[in-house]
Parts: sequence; C-alpha cells; structure tokens
Amino acid sequence: MLTGLKSLVRKATSLLASSKVQTYPIIIPRSDHSLSRTNLSANAVKVLYRLNKAGYDAFLVGGCVRDHLIGIEPKDFDVVTNATPEEVHSIFSNSRLIGRRFKLVHVTFGREMIEVSTFRAGSAQSEDDDETPNSSLKGKDSARSTHGIVLRDNVYGNIEEDAERRDFTFNALYYNVKDFSIHDYCGGLKDIEKKQIRIIGDARQRYQEDPVRMLRAIRFAGKLGFEIEAATAAPIKEMAHLLDHIPPARLFEEVLKLLGSGNGIKTFELLRQYGLFRYLFPDTDALLQSGWKRDDIDPEAFILQGLRNTDDRIQSGKTTAPYFLYAVLLWPSVALRHEEFQAQGMPATPALHQAANMVLDNQVASTAIPRRFSTPMREIWDMQYRLPKRYGKRAFLLLEHPRFRAGFDFLLIRELSGTELDGLGAWWEEFQHATESQQRELIKSIDARASDKEGPKKRRPRRRKKSNSHNRDTNDNSGKTRENFDE
Ligand code: ATP
Ligand code: MG
Repeated sequence: MLTGLKSLVRKATSLLASSKVQTYPIIIPRSDHSLSRTNLSANAVKVLYRLNKAGYDAFLVGGCVRDHLIGIEPKDFDVVTNATPEEVHSIFSNSRLIGRRFKLVHVTFGREMIEVSTFRAGSAQSEDDDETPNSSLKGKDSARSTHGIVLRDNVYGNIEEDAERRDFTFNALYYNVKDFSIHDYCGGLKDIEKKQIRIIGDARQRYQEDPVRMLRAIRFAGKLGFEIEAATAAPIKEMAHLLDHIPPARLFEEVLKLLGSGNGIKTFELLRQYGLFRYLFPDTDALLQSGWKRDDIDPEAFILQGLRNTDDRIQSGKTTAPYFLYAVLLWPSVALRHEEFQAQGMPATPALHQAANMVLDNQVASTAIPRRFSTPMREIWDMQYRLPKRYGKRAFLLLEHPRFRAGFDFLLIRELSGTELDGLGAWWEEFQHATESQQRELIKSIDARASDKEGPKKRRPRRRKKSNSHNRDTNDNSGKTRENFDE
C-alpha cells in the first residue's frame, strides 16, 4: 500500500510543482488513490450521505483515512461536518449528544458507532483555573486552565480551521464522499510516505493546549512503527509533567488504548523512553527504576510477559479485559507492599488486602480505575495465593470461581516470566480438562507430597466472637478468619 502511496504523493506534489509555495489543500482525485466506498463502513457512508442530503458538508477524517492509506484495517470511522452537534442529532434518531469539553454526536447502528464532530475553529482563548468548578465554565464555548490546557473547545469553524487544530498531519486527511477525493491540509500524505509522526504547528504550544497529544504521538509510534519527527519529539520529556493536570478518567481511557490495543510492548518501551510512563503508573515506574526484584518476581520481565500476552491475544482475535492489564501493571507494587505489611507482623491475607488497597488508592490519583475493574483485579491477586492450595474441596471450589480463568492466565504469565511455582500452571491445566475421578487423583497426588505451605492443617476450633458478630467483616477480619483456615 505504501508503494501506491508513493506514486500518489508524487502525483499530488507534481500538481503543485509549478507553484513555488506549497498551497493546501492538496486534492487527490478518486482516480489517484485507493480509498473507495467499498473499503468503508457502510454505516459511515450512510452518515455521510444523510448529512449531504440535508445540505451539509461531510467528510471522513482521522484514523480511518490514515490507516487505510497505510494499509491497515481502520479501528473506527470518524465523520466531520459543518452541521452543529445539535443539527446532527436532529438528523439521526439513532444518535446522542455527548461530551462537554468537546461536544460531539454518536450515531449508533447496532454495535457500530460512528462519531460525528463539527469543524472546530482555532484554540480556546479565555483563562480559567483548573480548580474552577464546572459551573463557572457554564455557557462558555472555550476555556483554558492556568496551565494553558484547553478545558472547552466548542467554537465551530470551517474545514481549514478544523485541519489546523487536529493533532498530527496524517490525522488531517479528509475523504469527501461527494466526489471521492482526499483533501490533504497539512502535508499528511508526505509524512505517511516518510513514515513520520509530525505535529501540526508548534509542538510546545500544542502539548500545552492538550498534553494527551504527547501520549497520542507515542501511541501512533507504537501502532504504526513510524518515527516521531525531531521537533515533535523534542519537548516531550520536558513537558511530560503536564499529564498531572489531566483528569484521571481520561488517562484511564488513554492507557487502555496505549497498552491494550495490540502494540503494548513497543508502546510501554516508548512511554518509558520518553518519561511518560511515570505519570501514568508512578508506583510501578518507581519500582522498575529501583531495580527491585525478588526470587518469585522480576517486575520488568513480568510486565513485559503480561503485555506480550495481551498483544498476542489481540493479534489472534481474542478478547482482552482492561482489569487484567491493570492487574498486571500493578502486581509488582502489590507484591512489594504485601512483603512490607507482612514484615510489620501482619498475617498474609490481610496484608495482601491492605497492599491491594494501598496500591489502588495511589493509582487512582493518576488514572481512574472504575470499581467494576478494581474488584476483579483484587480477585486475580487474591487467587495467586489461593491457587497453590488445592487439597480437599478447594480445587473444585476455585474452578467454579468466576475469576478462575483470569487468575489462572495470570499465574501462567508469572511462570512464563521466570517465577518458579513447582509446576502449578501445568497442574491446573490438567485439572481443568480431567474427568472427576482423574481430578481426585490429581488432588491426592498433591496431598501425598503436601508441603508445609500447602498441606491441610488441623483446624483450630474457632473462637466465638463475643460481640459485634452481626457486623459485616472488614477486610482485615475476613482475612484473619480465612487465614486461620488457610495457612
Ligand atoms: P484511532 O485509530 O485510534 O481511532 P484516530 O486518529 O482516529 O486514531 P481518534 O481518537 O479517533 O484517533 O480521533 C479522531 C481524530 O480526531 C484524530 O485523527 C485527530 O484528527 C483528532 N484528534 C483526536 N484527539 C485529538 C487531540 N487530542 N488533539 C487534536 N486532535 C485530536
Ligand atoms: Mg478514530
């Protein structure tokens, strides 16, 4: 596809050869590029035609045009139009208005969603403080924080202005369904040919307006294998700290796109190289920097193995769970804290719960973690201490646990990264696929060589609690009760 692109770029530049100064847009007619309606989502095309029919201009823009020209399957389709979000919403009954910082419309067709945004004009002008309550932004179409970060960006404009405020040149390519041409406003075609990521305008100013653009540069470098052009790369390390001013919920979404889209390993390495990782996972970064290791965990090897697992799953079309990725990225910190709490005399299970609380509390200051993810993360971590204990009915009970599969996959990653667990992964693999009588044999084989750690202990009679027996257990209480039984 890139060879085709070369001739396309040559044609495009020859169109301009006569004029000394390059003028934009470069318009590539239908005959000179390979993007056709048949490559596009039928629903996206439907949206374009409906907007045209209602008298508006409408283009495909961003990742879908870029990826198609590079020769990769677009992830989603973004439409841009001169209709306001409210006008778009009134045209499509299957749509909803979303966003405050950046208002747009989602048009849904079953499971597919087409994002429709309105041409934006230049940057926001007014000044506002980060800590300003949302109410003071009310009624404003544009606003910036004291750090220069754009808080509101709802001033509409024309296509030229819209192109200028996009992030990278290859993201400012527009496909016009009226005549099937591609409009290149910022030299994106040439940059695709050069395999480079180039920010539109002054890099410092663009990162100041929106520090997430630094993460996006890394994301595209990981995904496309392109180089970040020198002036685009230069200020990143120095400006990385601006990520501290981005709402944790937005960073949570960005992390999933960065590390959970099939190029996790490459992207993780780039994030560290550019000094951005520490603003996403401060504890994990500090731990990796410190070089801390233990017999049963090598943090770097473990994280890389976890990312490799996610990348491989995505490459082979399997699903991945965000909580699994987060459980991987935070596990080394949990292991370290767990050790520290135990060293202070806390029994193993409550120490683990305490460690999980601490690590999660610290992490949510950087990237939010919705409860629907943090609960399964805790279960996966918990399971690492339950999977070795298989005697009696335990193995059968664990197999029934809704998080068994995730806990088991996590265990395999630990083993693959060098943690010696005495064949535990292989045992569970066999156990899952065995008949009931084989399963009983497998459990017997454990009982036969029961170690101090694993072997059943005589159950101590439980002391009855004198009071508060009706109260719900706190983490610590439930931990202690279970611990007497487990260890
Ligand atoms: P992907 O393949 O991941 O969807 P994308 O480039 O389409 O990549 P989106 O987040 O879908 O990324 O954004 C669509 C388009 O909106 C981008 O191509 C870019 O033109 C513009 N855009 C998105 N985020 C920003 C930003 N932070 N600053 C400027 N422009 C942006
Ligand atoms: Mg997109």
